[in-house]
Amino acid sequence: NDPGVPIGKTVVLAEPRSFCAGVRRAIGIVEAALERFGPPIYVRNQIVHNHHVVRALEQRDVHFVSSTEEVPRGAVCVLSAHGVSPAVREAAAARDLRVIDATCPLVSKVHQQVIRAARDDRTVLLVGHMEHEEVEGTYGEAPDRTIVVSTVDEVRQLDLPEDTPVTYVTQTTLSIDDTREIVDAIADRFTDMTGPGTDDICYASQNRQNAVKALAQRTDVVLIVGSENSSNTVRMVEVAQQAGVRSYLVPDVEDLDESWLHGATSVGVSAGASAPEFLVEQLLDRLAELGLDRLEVEVTGSEADITFGLPSAVGGTEPVAD
Ligand code: SF4
Repeated sequence: NDPGVPIGKTVVLAEPRSFCAGVRRAIGIVEAALERFGPPIYVRNQIVHNHHVVRALEQRDVHFVSSTEEVPRGAVCVLSAHGVSPAVREAAAARDLRVIDATCPLVSKVHQQVIRAARDDRTVLLVGHMEHEEVEGTYGEAPDRTIVVSTVDEVRQLDLPEDTPVTYVTQTTLSIDDTREIVDAIADRFTDMTGPGTDDICYASQNRQNAVKALAQRTDVVLIVGSENSSNTVRMVEVAQQAGVRSYLVPDVEDLDESWLHGATSVGVSAGASAPEFLVEQLLDRLAELGLDRLEVEVTGSEADITFGLPSAVGGTEPVAD
C-alpha cells in the first residue's frame, strides 16, 4: 500500500450520479436499433460524451459521423440525445435515411419552447455555449429570432430595447446554479421576460452538482468519473473545488494518480451524466486496493422515477417521426 493513504478509510459515493435518463434512453435506442435493423448503424455525433460508450458501440459496427452526408443513402441513422436543428432533419430526409431520433424528451421540450416563442414574435435568449452541439440544434429551430448568451456582460450589452418581448431557454447540461446570474441579468434588463416552467427544466446537472457539494462537506478529495469532453462532468470538478476540496477528473481508472490521495481520510466519488456506472465500480475497486475500503453513500436526491420510453421506430411505445 501507498504509505500516504491511511488504511481502512472511507469512500463516500454520491447519489444521484452517472447516466441521466436521457443518456440511458439514447444508448437504449442504439442498442434496440442494432437488434431490430442489424449493423451497420450510423449515429450522428457522439451518442453521449463518453469515449467508453462510443468505443463499445463502435465494436458492434456502430459508426459515429459528424454529418448526415457521411451516411450511405437509405441507412439507419440515429440522432444523438443532444438534439438537432430542422436543417439536419431535412438533410437526412434528402438522403432517404431511416432516422431514429434519440433526442432527449427534455431537450425536445426546449425546442418546442423556442418554436412557440418565435411564432409569438418573441426574441429567444438561449443561455449556453454556441460550440455545444445541443445549443447548435436548439438555435437552429429559429436562428433569425435567437441570440445565444453565455455571460452576464453579453446580456447587458444586447442591442435591444428594454421592452423587447424575450423568452429565455437554457442549455440542459448547465445547472440552475450555472445559469442563475445570467437569467437574473435578463430579468434586470428586460421588462417582458418569460422562461421555462419548473416542470420543463432538466434537473440532472443540478442534482449531480448538489451531490458533489454534499461530498465536499465530508471528504478531503472528490474524484469525478467522466470524459474531458463532457462539459457537465468537468463542471462537477469545478463545483467541488469551489466548495473547498481538492477535486480531479478521472476519465479511466488508470488516470487515478495516487498522490492525489495523500493525507486523505475520506474520498468522495461521483460521475457525470454521460459516464457509465462500470467506470465508477472500477474506481471503487482500485480505491479499495489502496486501503479506502469502507463505502458509504451520500444520498442528496433520487432520479429513480425519471425514465423515458423508447420511440416506436425501435419497438418502443413512444411515437416518433421517422
Ligand atoms: Fe436529457 Fe437532462 Fe440528460 Fe440532457 S441532461 S440528456 S436534458 S436528462
